[in-house]
Amino acid sequence: MNYYKILNSAQTDKIEDITKKYKELAFKYHPDRNISNTSEATEKFKEINQAFSNIKLNHNKTYRSFAQNKFDFKHFTDKLINKGELLNTIINKAKNIDVTEFFNVFFDNIKQFRFYYDDIFSKIQTDDINVTINVELSDIFNNEEKIINMVRKRKCFKCYTNDLKFCRTCDNKIYYEQEKCFIVNCADQVVVFSGESNEEKNKKPGDIIIKFICKPNSIFNIINDHDILYTINHFTKEPIRNEFIYLDKQTYIFECSYPFASSYIIPCKGINIPYSTKRGNIIIKINTFNGENNNFKFRLK
Ligand SMILES: [Zn+2]
Repeated sequence: MNYYKILNSAQTDKIEDITKKYKELAFKYHPDRNISNTSEATEKFKEINQAFSNIKLNHNKTYRSFAQNKFDFKHFTDKLINKGELLNTIINKAKNIDVTEFFNVFFDNIKQFRFYYDDIFSKIQTDDINVTINVELSDIFNNEEKIINMVRKRKCFKCYTNDLKFCRTCDNKIYYEQEKCFIVNCADQVVVFSGESNEEKNKKPGDIIIKFICKPNSIFNIINDHDILYTINHFTKEPIRNEFIYLDKQTYIFECSYPFASSYIIPCKGINIPYSTKRGNIIIKINTFNGENNNFKFRLK
């Protein structure tokens, strides 16, 4: 029963204001004033009095804990969604009831809740785990997926939330080492697994950050993030006919005739651009004989 509602008040109202509302309602529904409707007025009068005596007993207490903890309920419940069965139960119990009842349910469950509590309310994070992986350029080009096994410290759900005498999962250490496979695509240059770092008491878990570094390749290089640079040395005015095996293992032939541009763009055959189906380009750079490419001037006016 929501006593505040009966008195047309709210949990956050001052007790003086609630008292005023109570007096107005008690005056209105006093059985002596409702002779034509005594039984209904008596019921209402009782209800108002019961509500007021309950509020008087608990108002300051609940209001204080509400204020002290500075709970932002919107934020709070939003964060809890998707945290599993336990929290759904708490939330479902807490839905559509007043704050007093919410706290009763909340503190009844606080022990079980402790497991999640840390990472919801803590501002301190555990250290991020940074992993650098050297990969071949062809792995990046071909969007190769790699499986990375990581061992992280996790809270033991069984005994972090219950006082077990013997816990086989963690040997009563409250924490245990857990191995997890992370599947990463080499074409994503940086991958962040949020909240997957070690767990510690009263801290949010940090992130696992995986970075790919391309091993040097003697033929092709990544430029502009997603383009592949291929350089042809050609020191005569003869037409160019260049045959090469590309990163997709196919053989291509590039042909052009004099005068040569300094570079040519072959679209959409570069590195996959993360979160899209597009690719960068191949940029074919022509190194011609000395002098030919140097017929330009550059000076201050
Ligand atoms: Zn345990």
